Amino acid sequence: MQIIRRSTLLFYVLLGVILGGSAAVILWQAQVSPLWALLIPAMLLVWAGRRPLRRWRVAQQTFPDVWRQWLERSVPLYDALDDQARARFERDVLFFLDEWRFEGVAETTVQDRHRLAVAAGAALILHGRPDWELPTKRTILLYPDRFDDDYLEGGGADYDGMVHAQGPIILTRQAVEDSWAFPHNGDNVVLHELAHLFDFTHAEAVGVPTLMDPASAEAWEALVQREMQRAARGQSLLRPYAAENGAELFAVAVENFFERPTALKRRHEELYNALVNFFNLDVAALHQESL
Ligand SMILES: [Zn+2]
Repeated sequence: MQIIRRSTLLFYVLLGVILGGSAAVILWQAQVSPLWALLIPAMLLVWAGRRPLRRWRVAQQTFPDVWRQWLERSVPLYDALDDQARARFERDVLFFLDEWRFEGVAETTVQDRHRLAVAAGAALILHGRPDWELPTKRTILLYPDRFDDDYLEGGGADYDGMVHAQGPIILTRQAVEDSWAFPHNGDNVVLHELAHLFDFTHAEAVGVPTLMDPASAEAWEALVQREMQRAARGQSLLRPYAAENGAELFAVAVENFFERPTALKRRHEELYNALVNFFNLDVAALHQESL
């Protein structure tokens, strides 16, 4: 996440020059002062500058010590980063918390630790790609307990989290807390649901992340099929749920990539390397260096 992306800045500068220049020519031909054309880049500056200005203000905030201590304890990769990378990670957490809305369902209180747990997942997933944003912005709904297909809690309810092509990300309070309480078990509902956001091409998630280079998409699909078969046979580091479909394979693989990178690299080297390319982050090497 950045205060403003270079490509966005370039886009608005070009737009300002083209529109402002055209308006100046028209005004000059109409014998009106062409200086009025400056209003166009000025309006563009106000319009396009809102988010960067907000992010710049957020970036000036002090990161609370108690949050830093939580990150050190709970997010192994954060612990492995150097000071500069940590500062960027913390800034991403602040951006996320400023821009994403959290709501508790059925009198569930959303506490800082829940908000921080989700924001840490977003900062982690985006860390290797400072130019990326999460593909969409959603509300996070925090449920008090597991829920079923009808979003009802109680007997038979077995979902810890859910996200569709549209609508909020639904997470249970307990699963969010457990996500980072056991950061090496390859089970992290926050990373899982955020990973799905990369995967909503058109109407449904098919396991080919939106930002993936089309040239590598075909090889990725073949790899996903092979990994799904391994998961279905129980010969995978990934839990059997990964065999459900391509989208779940990707989401479960992301959980393992960040939580058990060394084991994933050893047992699923091709999958691990594909994820290193996608996230631009060699998590296993980072973990190794920090030991
Ligand atoms: Zn899923």
